[in-house]
Amino acid sequence: MQPEMRIGYGYDSHEFKPGIPLKIGGIALPHDQGLGGHSDGDVLLHAITDALLGAIAGPDIGSLFPPSDPQWKNADSAVFLREALRRVKTAGYELVNLDSTLILAAPKIGPHAEAIRNHVAQLCGIPADCVGIKAKTPEGTGTENAVVAHVVALLKRR
Ligand SMILES: [Zn+2]
Repeated sequence: MQPEMRIGYGYDSHEFKPGIPLKIGGIALPHDQGLGGHSDGDVLLHAITDALLGAIAGPDIGSLFPPSDPQWKNADSAVFLREALRRVKTAGYELVNLDSTLILAAPKIGPHAEAIRNHVAQLCGIPADCVGIKAKTPEGTGTENAVVAHVVALLKRR
């Protein structure tokens, strides 16, 4: 018998690179640099994807969508999230809520938190009041040139 509820945890980090757009939670933020690496570098959507996959003990985002595969270069990270949600549904679960913490020196997330929350909620098919968006500065961690995202997600049996 499958458990009634499952929790998942996701973590991701991307380094700032000049001259590329910054996307967090599917929202373009005004900033002089963006996040390099896998796909469009959307650190929050990647961490949410991994939290969902982790909750069903699935393969992680890097196994499903290898960064070495050229088809994922500059890809919209919503594609990864949709695949994770599809797998959650197939496993017999649905997302209840998720909570996130972003760690970054700049830009300030506060003015954009509402837009990010609404967009992530829409992508995940849950109410906006079931999406936590919090941000901290990387004080003392030496990660000023990166954005780090931590996410937990709760699933319930359908
Ligand atoms: Zn990533």
